[in-house]
Amino acid sequence: MLSSNETILVTGGAGYIGSHTVLSLQKKGCNVIVLDNLVYGHRDIIEKVLGAELIVGDINNYALLCDIFRSHNISSVIHFAAYAYVGESCQSPGKYYRNNVVGTLTLLEAMRDSGVNKIVFSSTCATYGIPTENPITESQIQQPINPYGATKLTVEKMLQDFDQAHGIKSVVFRYFNAAGADPESRLGEDHVPETHLIPLILLTALGQRKAISIFGNDYPTPDGTCIRDYIHVSDLAEAHVLGLKYLLAGNDSNTFNLGNGNGFSVKEVIETAKAVTNRNIPVIQSERRPGDPPILVGSSDKAKAILNWQPKYSDLAQILQHAWRWHQQRHG
Ligand code: UDP
Repeated sequence: MLSSNETILVTGGAGYIGSHTVLSLQKKGCNVIVLDNLVYGHRDIIEKVLGAELIVGDINNYALLCDIFRSHNISSVIHFAAYAYVGESCQSPGKYYRNNVVGTLTLLEAMRDSGVNKIVFSSTCATYGIPTENPITESQIQQPINPYGATKLTVEKMLQDFDQAHGIKSVVFRYFNAAGADPESRLGEDHVPETHLIPLILLTALGQRKAISIFGNDYPTPDGTCIRDYIHVSDLAEAHVLGLKYLLAGNDSNTFNLGNGNGFSVKEVIETAKAVTNRNIPVIQSERRPGDPPILVGSSDKAKAILNWQPKYSDLAQILQHAWRWHQQRHG
């Protein structure tokens, strides 16, 4: 179903999850065109590591999108391009609505007008807000507690409407906490600025940061710190390939959680990182960070049953091991 005749547009393909997905698509023999404005993406990863065609541009550029669809005979889109800092979204919601919502609307209109009718979309467990139950299933009510989650939920609704009106079929993935790095260390997590727990812990282990701050120790969890479900980025990437195959096989639109179904507290992640790195990792206790739900753990039974998705690297120590190897290489 996936072949070298297939040309896939990957928006945001120079970012963390996007670049790992480009690698997975290439392994399946697909032609990949990456569209990235390089605000947060890395040119060197596309040019030196992946060797995919990179178009530097924005999803808000309707004419550029139509031109890419026509000139490259694009069959489908995997859409990662978005701003994804929860804290920043609380301070600058307009930036998030413009890029994530208006940008995706432009992309969908360009798809509609160019006859491209399949899209895999990166959504997030942040659309659930504070869950009523963990593990979270796809049918749980979505009540985001920050603008980032709200922008992703708005796009989910737009996708339903564009399917209804224009037959654009979508697979929506609601990720839990993407973590780790390519097991062969070709790619990894490199956000600037970095705000995510695992890379910050590893930069501390490398001595590039003085300490890791624990945001809040009074949450209703066994050790008082937030619990998250960490899912290996290469497993996420594989899910995107399966989602694309599902759409290319003519299936209807669908939504899937992607997580491991196991939660780890911030303190547990730090302890596991100490064991994996064998380094000292100083800790500072800090205030809660606004917008953080206490516990987010995902049930991925639906993705396993319908897409036949099987995460390969569900062990937290292994996820940290892969991230550590890559961090030592990139930042050591
Ligand atoms: N966290 C922390 N210190 C940090 C960064 C994150 O304690 O320096 C916590 C954060 O409050 C959350 C968890 O680690 O409970 C994971 O945060 P991250 O930013 O990695 O991902 P998110 O859950 O926001 O998608």
